[in-house]
Amino acid sequence: MSRAPLPSWLLRALQVLGMAWALPNTALGLIAGGVCLARGAHAHVSTRDLAIVFHGVPFGPGGALTLGNVILHTGHTLDEPCQTYAHRAGHGEQPRILLADHERAHVYQYMVLGVLFLPLYGLCGGISVRNRFERAADCYALHGAGWWPWTRSQ
Ligand SMILES: [Zn+2]
Repeated sequence: MSRAPLPSWLLRALQVLGMAWALPNTALGLIAGGVCLARGAHAHVSTRDLAIVFHGVPFGPGGALTLGNVILHTGHTLDEPCQTYAHRAGHGEQPRILLADHERAHVYQYMVLGVLFLPLYGLCGGISVRNRFERAADCYALHGAGWWPWTRSQ
């Protein structure tokens, strides 16, 4: 059974509330992004991802990190294919996903959980296939739904 979509005005109002609730995390992301800008990164607003995306981030092992409505990315486009956590961990073959879709799921998670995101993410295992936040983000990237970490199938 599918649900009717929210009216656009209600969706927009909820997005604004979510962005406000995620603002402390977004501020951390903007500070980190500002440091990266000074070291050669560039930024743009992605309305699709509801985020300010910093590309060419010169730190980290590669990939992307979402902080509120900010995505920090070492590459130059989020529209690059990548493997799911389960695939990388050898838990079965899965099709490749778009990094943008995975990170957008984290933006949605932040907009619901706000300042609770980082402590809950840490309690759920951090950057790991065991973490329900990562499995949910991969589920969303694979199927276009299921970004909420406590969905029954997670
Ligand atoms: Zn992730």
